[in-house]
Amino acid sequence: MSETRTHCPYCALQCAMTLSVDDDGPAGTAPTVSVAGAWFPTNRGRLCRKGATAAQLLGNRPDRLTAPLIRDSRESDLRETSWDEALDLVASRITALQRRHGPDAVGVFGSGSLTNEKAYTLGKFARTALRTSRIDYNGRFCMASAAKAATEVFGLDRGLPFPLTDLDEACTVVLFGSNVADTMPPFVQHLQRARDLGGLIVVDPRRSNTAQLTDGGAGHHIAPASGGDLPLLLSLAHVLLAEGLADERYLGRRTTGLEDFRRSVADWWPERAQAVCGVSALRIRWLARHLAAAARAAKAGGDPVVILTGRGVEQHRDGTDTAKAAISLALLLGLPGTGHGGYGTITGQGNGQGGREMGQKADQLPGLRSITDPADRETVAGRWGTTAEALPGAGVPATQLLHTLGTDRGVKALLVHGANVVVSAPDVLHVEQRLRALDLLVVCDFFRSETAAMADVVLPVLQWAEEDGTMTNLEGRVLRRRRAVTGPAGARSELWVLAELARRLGSTVPLAEQPEEVFAEIRRVTAGGRADYSGLDWDRCSEVAAYWPLRESLAEPLTEPLTRESAAETTTTGEPVLGTPRVFTDRFAHPDGRAHLGPITVREAQPASTHGLTLTTGRLMEHYQSGTQTRRVEELLDVHPEATVSVHPATAAQRGLAEGGRAELRSATGSARARVVLDAGLRTDTVFMPFHFAGAGAANRLTAGLLDPQSQMPEFKSTPVDLHPVGVG
Ligand code: SF4
Repeated sequence: MSETRTHCPYCALQCAMTLSVDDDGPAGTAPTVSVAGAWFPTNRGRLCRKGATAAQLLGNRPDRLTAPLIRDSRESDLRETSWDEALDLVASRITALQRRHGPDAVGVFGSGSLTNEKAYTLGKFARTALRTSRIDYNGRFCMASAAKAATEVFGLDRGLPFPLTDLDEACTVVLFGSNVADTMPPFVQHLQRARDLGGLIVVDPRRSNTAQLTDGGAGHHIAPASGGDLPLLLSLAHVLLAEGLADERYLGRRTTGLEDFRRSVADWWPERAQAVCGVSALRIRWLARHLAAAARAAKAGGDPVVILTGRGVEQHRDGTDTAKAAISLALLLGLPGTGHGGYGTITGQGNGQGGREMGQKADQLPGLRSITDPADRETVAGRWGTTAEALPGAGVPATQLLHTLGTDRGVKALLVHGANVVVSAPDVLHVEQRLRALDLLVVCDFFRSETAAMADVVLPVLQWAEEDGTMTNLEGRVLRRRRAVTGPAGARSELWVLAELARRLGSTVPLAEQPEEVFAEIRRVTAGGRADYSGLDWDRCSEVAAYWPLRESLAEPLTEPLTRESAAETTTTGEPVLGTPRVFTDRFAHPDGRAHLGPITVREAQPASTHGLTLTTGRLMEHYQSGTQTRRVEELLDVHPEATVSVHPATAAQRGLAEGGRAELRSATGSARARVVLDAGLRTDTVFMPFHFAGAGAANRLTAGLLDPQSQMPEFKSTPVDLHPVGVG
């Protein structure tokens, strides 16, 4: 029996686990004790049922992709072939398409589930071997609005700008649109003190499992209408400013733009917000005053106050403004960077944080550098051994990339890595149609996902515990995933696949194939960037709390230091620390050192459905993202085998629906079918569908692809729908 210390293949908590392998193959996972003899601080000896069953994805599974597959014609089935034939075919067809239509004829779609090394190499491959601007990734559907908001207000996008264990000290934690009890259950441990003190406040249209943690005096659940988050946040800010409860001294010292922000909230008195968001004016005033009192007490020596957001408030067509409003609320309370609390966003995908720092975004180069900034282009091009002139410019965001496939404005070939877009993208029926219009669809995956099933070429790659790599968790802590088992003989590392393709395409820019080599390159290339990995150490990641940036290691010092903290700092757990666990401690990352408040716009509401119902989507405890992995684990599938729609019993009765019956949902975009689950904790005007299922049960058959103009985040959380028993209406 061998045991390997690694991290979970799923969400951004990246729980530390030990993977056991015996003579028959992978045997199981168990939580890991850290080197100091204490539990690893983020999951502290717990795994959720996804992590606990993760070993089942490994080993000799009949559904595992073990050889490259190609399709001889659109009508024929995929057939097995050799790696040489598959890669030669991909390279020759890309070359022909680019000769005919130019470099942007080929696009790349990446993922927040790829390791840092793969995400980095994918971005470099696209910009240097394909020379295309058309690269983006599924993080656009996940964190784009929160990332944009943090960049605009703080000057830096780091999900949690403090260690997760700081929450252990907080007396008040407000969760806006986050269901951590289902999505990352071990996180709940960090809310215990707030619950003990009655200070957990959950804002969610559903009485989710997280909202239920407030029961019994542990806190408060506030249920706005789906899409009412922004008016609610603006009204809270209105009360703070109108009643003189904002921390004017902090705002004067550490922020700019207050007057613009003040004008944005001036009209959002609680009675007006109540009419839009459905939370009573009384409740809004109470919450604002409660938070102000808690923040005052924190600064007088009490316990911290923390405001957190999740996808529930961020995946909206005004997601950036909503996230900015949440950050602004924390600033009005005088919290961020003071040690008395602050603001953070809870990253969802396993490497959602690292994935958006490594340069696979349409507008970014590695290290959170901008692809449109001449100095950033020079720096990265020089370190890649090419020129800024040779690098393409900014591409198009994911939704636009997918919805224009095969058109005059779109790419003719698409390479998909670690994503299942026919389940996860908005308006998936249109995405399917566009994928069929491509000249070439190449999918790299380890299982035959619904997207892989549509491909012309499927390249089988190694997964999770079959290769080494680093992930950056929701705190900006860089972790090592270690190789514990040997993958199928026919599968290859994506790093090897990209290097081979680059060679066949005649690229003169080398791509490293070994994860440790790529990590060393990431350290060099991100040095001096906003996400600076230069001081991190391959061997010490996971052994110490390793956070970017390590300031003294900067090859090109920033003109303004980000923080005053150094490697000597410790987290509250007393672990040895490398890097900067808490950013913004005495200045924000804008050149003037201040946080930038600013104007916030509320867009007109979408027309309601004739049934007055709004669909919101989200995750279940048993499944992860598009379900490509978790829908293959028996224990998980047994608990939640098919698409469901949660409906309030009164709403169900009105529409002739009963528990366990079949319902059809219709939106302006499409229709979907699901089994009815009655849920008295939902608002009567809201229905909920998980987005993990494919085919007729895909929730994203209903979402419309409406975009937040600032971040191009699609609207996933508020879609007008009608609801009928199957076969009626
Ligand atoms: Fe931990 Fe998330 Fe894995 Fe569950 S899915 S074990 S919460 S990392």
